[in-house]
Amino acid sequence: MRLRCQYCRLNLTEEHFYLGQQQLTSICDICQSRGLLIGDFVNQQSLVLATARQWVYLGLPENIARKTSTQQVKLSLTKQERKACNSLIDSFDVLPGSWRKQALRQQFYQHVIAWQNRPEAVNLTGNFPIDLENLGCDTTTIFDKNNLDYTTRVYIREKYHYQCQYCGRYGDSVDHKDPVTLSDDNSLANLILSCRECNKLKGSMPYQQFVEWNQEVPATLAKLRQYQQTIERLTRQQKKLQTQLAVARHLTVSVQDRKLVGLRRKIKVLQGLLDGENSDYQKLIRVRHDYIISHYATWKLEQEDN
Ligand SMILES: [Zn+2]
Ligand SMILES: [Zn+2]
Repeated sequence: MRLRCQYCRLNLTEEHFYLGQQQLTSICDICQSRGLLIGDFVNQQSLVLATARQWVYLGLPENIARKTSTQQVKLSLTKQERKACNSLIDSFDVLPGSWRKQALRQQFYQHVIAWQNRPEAVNLTGNFPIDLENLGCDTTTIFDKNNLDYTTRVYIREKYHYQCQYCGRYGDSVDHKDPVTLSDDNSLANLILSCRECNKLKGSMPYQQFVEWNQEVPATLAKLRQYQQTIERLTRQQKKLQTQLAVARHLTVSVQDRKLVGLRRKIKVLQGLLDGENSDYQKLIRVRHDYIISHYATWKLEQEDN
């Protein structure tokens, strides 16, 4: 979901409007980095979305804005400049790990803000790496992660259809078959896709052995996949009901309304199922984890003996 920031008027992904869990702000995080205050702006979109999701809206309440009818200040950019800036930020957002690396993100924001203040200084071309350089961003820190470039990662993910090649569940981690601790081989033949769990579990284990040990427990892997799918399905159902509940609450006067009570009961039932599935899932993850780890320990001992 995209939301429009009430200061810069950019259409950004909703992550830019998160502040803590389940809270949506009136202006984007970039404008907050400028030192602007969330409480000075009203954002109809954030307000409605937050209400529908039963989240918290952080911004100027609409009724107060109407009463004072203050014309809100806005960043002055031409439509074209806004479009160019929007796509620059979108490109940054899809970089692997760009949301986890907050220092890098803040650095990027400072360059964006500097440009927004003086857009005539740099002409944004739409070519992401070139624009970053023209803005003065340190592109080596932005693209250099394990020495793998962005296009390689995207390529590997597409090649394996976002499926972990060890367990078959959803995966987006590009993994070195030969661990980086053993070799620096970044060739495509040495790269494979895995889920975060397998990636972490494999660590510095040898590829061939890790694959073999996994193949010894096909039933466990099939169950893991099944759990993940069931949990996803239940979560989707629950979200749908929560949205229905939020809408129904606006339409009905009485909190004891039969429809509301029914929806609440269904959500509770789903939560019970989710808790059960999740706990079984976690148990199975541990079983497989311990199985592989014990194999690895034995294997290492054997290696030392030889
Ligand atoms: Zn903004
Ligand atoms: Zn996996």
